[in-house]
Amino acid sequence: MTEATQTHYRTCNLCEAMCGIKIEYRGNEVLSIKGDEDDPFSKGHICPKATALQDIYEDPDRLKYPVRRTDNGWEEISWNEAFDEVVENLTAIQAEHGRNAVGIYQGNPNVHNLGTMLFSPPFVRSLRTKNRFSATSSDQLPHHFAAFFMFGHQLLMPVPDVDRTDFFLILGANPIASNGSLMTAAGIGNRLKDLQKRGGKFIVIDPRYTETAKRADAHYFIKPATDALLLLAMVCTLFEENLVELGRLETIVTQLDDLRETVKDFTPERVADVTGISADTIRQLTRDFANADRAVAYGRIGLSTQAYGGVCNWLINCLNILTGNFDEAGGAMFTLPAFDIVGLTSLTGQVGNYDRWRSRVRDVPAFGGELPSSIMAEEILTEGDGQIKAMVTVAGNPVLSTSNGEQLDEAFESLDYMVSIDIYINETTRHANIILPPTTGLETEHYDLVFHYLAVRNTAKYSPILFEKDDNQRHDWQILSELRDRLEAKNSRPARGKDWFRRLTPRKLVDMVLRTGPYGSWLYPPVSGDGINIHTLDKNPHGVDLGALVPMLPDRLTTDDSMIHLAPEIIVKDLQRVREDLLDKTSAQSNGYDLHLIGRRHLRSNNSWMHNSERLVRGKNRCTVMIHPDDAQSRKITNGDVVTVKSRVGEVQVEAEVTDTIMRGVVSIPHGWGHHREGIQMDVASEYAGVSVNDLTDDQRIDELTGNAAFNGVPVVITK
Ligand code: SF4
Repeated sequence: MTEATQTHYRTCNLCEAMCGIKIEYRGNEVLSIKGDEDDPFSKGHICPKATALQDIYEDPDRLKYPVRRTDNGWEEISWNEAFDEVVENLTAIQAEHGRNAVGIYQGNPNVHNLGTMLFSPPFVRSLRTKNRFSATSSDQLPHHFAAFFMFGHQLLMPVPDVDRTDFFLILGANPIASNGSLMTAAGIGNRLKDLQKRGGKFIVIDPRYTETAKRADAHYFIKPATDALLLLAMVCTLFEENLVELGRLETIVTQLDDLRETVKDFTPERVADVTGISADTIRQLTRDFANADRAVAYGRIGLSTQAYGGVCNWLINCLNILTGNFDEAGGAMFTLPAFDIVGLTSLTGQVGNYDRWRSRVRDVPAFGGELPSSIMAEEILTEGDGQIKAMVTVAGNPVLSTSNGEQLDEAFESLDYMVSIDIYINETTRHANIILPPTTGLETEHYDLVFHYLAVRNTAKYSPILFEKDDNQRHDWQILSELRDRLEAKNSRPARGKDWFRRLTPRKLVDMVLRTGPYGSWLYPPVSGDGINIHTLDKNPHGVDLGALVPMLPDRLTTDDSMIHLAPEIIVKDLQRVREDLLDKTSAQSNGYDLHLIGRRHLRSNNSWMHNSERLVRGKNRCTVMIHPDDAQSRKITNGDVVTVKSRVGEVQVEAEVTDTIMRGVVSIPHGWGHHREGIQMDVASEYAGVSVNDLTDDQRIDELTGNAAFNGVPVVITK
């Protein structure tokens, strides 16, 4: 008898947008994946990447059971043997070389997974190492840094209320391609269209005429990594032209005079040449922003993955605050999610930390309990006490995603031991001695802990498992729990009164937190209906709408004085570096590297790990270097030529794409490619290998304030 076709609803967890999807399936076979029209948040929106959920589930290259690297290739082993060997080796290395001899790197997919979000922290603690790294410092660390020093909590990051704003200023972000980042906004294209329909505008500032810029009301080219100057000039103009209007926030901001004094020299006239935007344009843009009924400034990757990311993110907040567009409808707002991580951690005092320890080689401070990923290779390669001898990687491919990937590749090769929790044998995990593959996507349950909290509207949704795993597979949380138990037992550190936690599953944990959250029914009076718990969500498979964002201040602040700090000393001090590097230095210091490299994003790609999906990667080559026609002509480069791009740390050969959508003096290569290395077992990705932009990015280029990698603005030279 033929099995019946059934329908399953869930949230796509491949990117930050949280689209509701409707999956038709029969038995264990996916028949179709479509947007869920009834999802109150995404309203039917979907992008081409959603099909990768099926492709990853069915991928013949995906690992399902543990494998060990041997001289004769990879061999499958039992979970018990794998856990035994991993724990034996990690503890032996720590016994011989000290706790910090084991390092851990957690990749970006971890924040998209319920199991790792809940069970990683106790696992990481069981490793007892200070050498902790993650994708945070390759991506959004400056946002956390500004939040911590201005609002008192590293997770208290405002999101643009795009659905109600009239003037949306977008800097260094391309939401039409990314679908929103640190701004969960499924169907952002429609939201931007609606903004224009109601008479509003959006303006894009970017060194590239991006997919978002093409639909904007105005676009201005800006020289890479000079955004801090533009923002300083805008804040300076607000003070100069008496445009500061704090509104309701007047009683909860401090250091207004300090801020005025700090920015007063950064006039539009002074920064115009360096940024490439005229003083008149900067002044008019500032006036338009300040005079709009509801405006919001939003900066993303181009601002946070550059040498002055901390300063940029502070200034974005200042711009919103000073114009009365903060914690108000249509401005930058905080969310109130049903699983309220900020509320919970504020209660327990886990608001973040800075400089609790420093790295051994470069002496850079840890933030939020982690060191910058850019220093990982030197901590492995530099001999001496505290050298990393073994690595654990969890759902990450830092060889492709962190600066100077070639160096990290060599570093991983030199390790005494490495274990990876991952579904692929990729550029990073090929160095592992053992790979422990978790279930993925459709085999897991999902509740978005992170992206509900970054969403432009408060909603809640739980996605159950679609396809049951087989008995010999393990979920990520089961792998992490097992490793932690064994590590603690081996280190004679039995669970200290936390046995109750060990009996909890992700579903039970989510239920418990929902019930005690702001819409729950145990501790708080429910905000709506009978209160949210896991059963409410079971009954609402499309999700539950909890309303538009609401003002949250001053209650949400966790600074000592419950005030917003407009001029944190540590950030203000960094302006000296901005001034010296950008205003005082001359271009003669380029050492022959006469172009600046930036990254770019494509709708059909998400970092490195979806490149084994044929339907996402096929077609025209997307891994090209974009170069302006004038720059191409002066180097005798024509469209389609293979050119050599060289930086201080390496070089790649890549196809040139000559286009006037890129600013003169700037070139762009997308990230996540470079699947040509020997030993990877991802057939489709190898066929569409591309080159890794991170073979050009420089591990020595970081934002010295926050430690985030400075991927954007890398000096390069191009030859035919
Ligand atoms: S935009 Fe993101 S969440 Fe939505 S379908 Fe695409 S990958 Fe999934």
